[in-house]
Amino acid sequence: MDRAYKFRIYPTSQQEKKLDTHRWIAKNLWNELLAYSKDTYNKTGKFPTRNQLQLLVKSKGMYSQSAQEISHRIGTAIHRVFQVRKKGKEIGFPRFKNIDRMKSIYYPQSGFWLKDKRLKVTPFGEIKITFHRSMEGKIKTLSLKRESAGKWYAVFTTERPDIEFKSNGKGQVGIDLGLKTFATLSDGIKISNPRHIKKYEKKLADYQRVLSYKKKGSRNRWKQKQKVARIHEKIDNTRKDFLHKLSHKLVNSYSLVSMEKLRSQEMAEQGYGKQINDAGWGMFANMMAYKAESAGCQVVFVNPERTTKTCHVCGNIQEMPLNERTYYCEKCNTQTDRDINASINILAKATAGLAGSNACRDGNNVCC
Ligand SMILES: [Zn+2]
Repeated sequence: MDRAYKFRIYPTSQQEKKLDTHRWIAKNLWNELLAYSKDTYNKTGKFPTRNQLQLLVKSKGMYSQSAQEISHRIGTAIHRVFQVRKKGKEIGFPRFKNIDRMKSIYYPQSGFWLKDKRLKVTPFGEIKITFHRSMEGKIKTLSLKRESAGKWYAVFTTERPDIEFKSNGKGQVGIDLGLKTFATLSDGIKISNPRHIKKYEKKLADYQRVLSYKKKGSRNRWKQKQKVARIHEKIDNTRKDFLHKLSHKLVNSYSLVSMEKLRSQEMAEQGYGKQINDAGWGMFANMMAYKAESAGCQVVFVNPERTTKTCHVCGNIQEMPLNERTYYCEKCNTQTDRDINASINILAKATAGLAGSNACRDGNNVCC
């Protein structure tokens, strides 16, 4: 399955001149090959072969594969005309192009590099690009495209292997995400936030306090700002690393993981904002979703309503103040750790959903 991704690029004025020059070369090459093909046909009654065309595109001042792609495209177009006419039908011959109809420079497999969100293209060098979304699958081709108003775009196609989902055959689990304990699993496992983060956070608070004493515009203030930025980066990296490892482990240990559909918005409104962001729940949910399929795991996002207030044994619903760490059921007298009780309910919602009650399926990942 191929997918295309389009991103705006911002060539410098020099790069833009060069890009336009290459469009001219591409246009001229197209017309030249087309004229040659027609001429050959008129003289010999045969169209040139693809190999013959291939030989004509050398040393034209374009990236070689981009030039070859033009000959390939002409070759294919002519071949198609030939095939259709053989069947007695009429089909238009490829046309000569003017510069407005030669919009793209095409890279069928190489000649470009994409690393750390930076794009390098032969022979234009590094071109500024804004990635507004991430790409899935292996990148196959690139075209640099000029659209009206002189805006340039990079269009990538990626190939995503169409694998049939195959469960890893392992167990099922529900996860309750929290602020104190990062995650509580329905089988009783508790995963705390990484210890380093606490340490860094304390440092961050110290650095920020020092920063507030520094004179505005002073060199010392600038230096302190750098320190604060670096510690922020450290916290982010530590958290990302932790979330990557944890999500990897979970999708490989279970065939079904049930999680709450996040209420970040709602909780932020109640004043939990910063802590929610820090906990990285959204990032974690994303990582789980995109890692699941290839690991043979299904991730289900369930409605979090009443997962805390419900007794996982008898279904009784009672109030659970935030500081109450244990669920004492008033009806059946069961005692369960607050978060474990919630995670069992979260799992139950997912399995009930899968049986057909309230789940809406979206590929292999389900949202309720
Ligand atoms: Zn109960």
